[in-house]
Amino acid sequence: MKSLTEKTPCSGEEAEAVTAALPENDDAAKTAAGMTDREPARQTAVTEEDLAYMREALRLAQEAAEADEAPVGACIVQNGRLIAAARNRRESDKCATHHAEILAIEEACRTLGGWRLPGCTLYVTLEPCPMCGGAIVNARIPRVVFGAYDEKAGVFGSATDFNALTFNHKPAVTGGVLAEESRAILSAYFKGKRKN
Ligand SMILES: [Zn+2]
Repeated sequence: MKSLTEKTPCSGEEAEAVTAALPENDDAAKTAAGMTDREPARQTAVTEEDLAYMREALRLAQEAAEADEAPVGACIVQNGRLIAAARNRRESDKCATHHAEILAIEEACRTLGGWRLPGCTLYVTLEPCPMCGGAIVNARIPRVVFGAYDEKAGVFGSATDFNALTFNHKPAVTGGVLAEESRAILSAYFKGKRKN
């Protein structure tokens, strides 16, 4: 976890862009090996299947960028079956809660016909925010795999670690999977925004 004193002197979307562009030193090699310096509790191994679904989440993130949305994509897999896929729709839907993870969780609940999502893994290109982390806990999602760390708002090891709190459900978390690719999409998007 980065020191809290390492604050960047900007705010809002620019801050998000800076966060996304933070240098990671030799993290690319570590990411490729499924490792990271900032391992949250209960880090799990990365499988070929994980990489394939993270690529699907990256594709959805790219779709968001093309729709002029902060590029975050998410999908949910149950026992090897893709049951939900979504991208950030905050701008399109003019709704603060329409993050990729929330929309994917809603779709998975509809698909499975219940509010619990047993046997599911949620893949997302950016470390979940407090709202999405809360939804993950509430849906009892057993496992979360995410790409880029979010130093400002991430709740699985960056800004805070939900698994270190007293919640009654603690998902197994693997962070930093295809982190370079996830961060690159975010950086490119926010760089384009600053030019406009
Ligand atoms: Zn969120």
